[in-house]
Amino acid sequence: MIKDIIAVLKEAYKRNWITPRDGNISFKNSGSNNFFITPSGLRKQNLNESDFIELEIINNGWNQINNLNLKPSGEIQLHYELLKSVNLDLCVIHLHPTYTISAMYSGIDLSTLSEDFPELSRYTKIAKNTEIVPPLSKNLAFQCKANLAYDNNINEFRNNIVGIPNHGIVSIGADVYEAFEHVERLEHIASIVLLSKK
Ligand SMILES: [Zn+2]
Repeated sequence: MIKDIIAVLKEAYKRNWITPRDGNISFKNSGSNNFFITPSGLRKQNLNESDFIELEIINNGWNQINNLNLKPSGEIQLHYELLKSVNLDLCVIHLHPTYTISAMYSGIDLSTLSEDFPELSRYTKIAKNTEIVPPLSKNLAFQCKANLAYDNNINEFRNNIVGIPNHGIVSIGADVYEAFEHVERLEHIASIVLLSKK
């Protein structure tokens, strides 16, 4: 999985969806109490497998297991909140895709795009945007989690991707490519909507 995450970060950088220090990705396997996350401060397009940080979920927080000279991503709270309460193979990615952010900036709630572009909802369920929340904040973490809407009864999130206005998106999947695909699909529609100037 870590090799795939490195490939996705390079691709996101190439597409201009992150600048070098933006973006973060984590994953946890079902049945495990530990998760892996990108480190803070390193250039995301040049990460090595050994740069990833392993964390153990403990009561009300986490315990860093390796790479003690590095810090986990500044958005650790977001990843922790999403990963801690589910028993799923789950990958969480946070990126800054250009058209999607532009669409939110122009006032569009991303969840409404499925009405005009029904094919979008075939594979990707889009949550309502969060409010404008500060980066790295607990409020960002809580609102993303609430809008992605984990359903205990089916052990799944009801939505796959959520937009944070003036900032970026959080997308989830069983693996990093599934999570990245939701970003690609939404970004494609967002670019069409903005080009139409409707
Ligand atoms: Zn961000």
